[in-house]
Amino acid sequence: MSTNKGAFAPSAPPPYAPPSYSQAVGGVPPQAPFTPLQAGAPTTVVTTVVPLGSQSTHMICPHCRAEVDTTTKTSPSVVAWLSGFIICILGCWMGCCLIPCCLNDCMDVEHSCPHCNSFLGKYKRG
Ligand SMILES: [Zn+2]
Repeated sequence: MSTNKGAFAPSAPPPYAPPSYSQAVGGVPPQAPFTPLQAGAPTTVVTTVVPLGSQSTHMICPHCRAEVDTTTKTSPSVVAWLSGFIICILGCWMGCCLIPCCLNDCMDVEHSCPHCNSFLGKYKRG
């Protein structure tokens, strides 16, 4: 009886070493978290507000940069219209309702630039 025991398992290590975990995975550096660029800090717009009164006001026109005295124009304010409406409801509708619109105290004053005709502001009474 002759047995052939030639089928030995090779005991030599495989010719290549399996790559380690760090070699297989760590080849690509981890991506830095994406930080979006800030779209600029909010800019605060400072506007010089000239207090407007019922009279012509000396100011610098923000539109044409001219030093002007504002042109004033009076217009009936909401108070005037409301007063007229109330008087109208109360029965004095024959012309009386127009009285508040004629009272200067009930008028709004609109300021405009005499140079470029731009609307500059409105002075409200009350
Ligand atoms: Zn102007």
